[in-house]
Amino acid sequence: MVSLGLEDKVIVVTGGNRGIGAAIVSLLTDLGAKVAYTDLAATNPKGLGIVADVTKLESMEEAARKIEAELGPVYGIVANAGITRDNFFAKLTPEDWDMVINVNLKGVNHTIKPFIEGMYERQAGSIVCISSISGDRGNAGQTNYAATKAAVIGLVKSLAREAARYNIRANAIAPGFINTEMTLAIPEKVRDKITAEIPFRRFGEPDDIAWATAYLLSPVASSYVSGEVLRVNGAHHT
Ligand code: NDP
Repeated sequence: MVSLGLEDKVIVVTGGNRGIGAAIVSLLTDLGAKVAYTDLAATNPKGLGIVADVTKLESMEEAARKIEAELGPVYGIVANAGITRDNFFAKLTPEDWDMVINVNLKGVNHTIKPFIEGMYERQAGSIVCISSISGDRGNAGQTNYAATKAAVIGLVKSLAREAARYNIRANAIAPGFINTEMTLAIPEKVRDKITAEIPFRRFGEPDDIAWATAYLLSPVASSYVSGEVLRVNGAHHT
């Protein structure tokens, strides 16, 4: 019998109340990890739910204090919370630009920052940031979103280089189109067009991303993997 080595590891997932984040919380819990999640609401019964807003550093610092007091020192971070405010670039409002930057990019910084020094001291840990196919190859109507998701890849690659000396790994996952509330907003006509472009001819499921996350968190399965972007997209490459 082998295991991913996540038993009793304390792992924090942002945006864990629903969608991909909830699937990650559920799988990590089933793999024996002690899981906490943060979100704007905390109704997911799996894991320790803490209401916190990733756009606010103080809110995430307070969440970090609560999580470590309740569960112990954090080993793993999954920066998953994200939003879309889609529009063509010429029509994109400054508010929608800022809101997406605040959640998807500043939010990742606010998620990692409160934990990083402790992780360095303990010399053990893994950070996984959820990027997107849009950040990797661009997507019409998503200049704001794609900019943040590409930036997260740059953040991860740089952090991986800085953190290696402390035995901390940082990786990104770039999901393709996944069935969640986020993609339910896509009009049916556009959805059909996207599906026709995907070699698997279907959207992925939140569990597909949860398993990729578990792999990248695992000190057993991925101990020499850092600064990587794992594409989980049904062969929907450029
Ligand atoms: P959902 O919209 O289903 O879930 C996102 C979660 O993040 C929600 O629970 C939401 O809370 C939470 N959230 C939003 N804003 C904040 C905030 N300020 N602070 C804390 N939590 C917040 O999205 P998905 O599960 O589909 O997406 C998860 C991640 O995967 C995102 O980063 C997304 O960009 C990425 N992704 C998704 C893809 C897809 O096809 N679904 C494809 C590629 C990447 P609330 O319910 O209150 O809004």
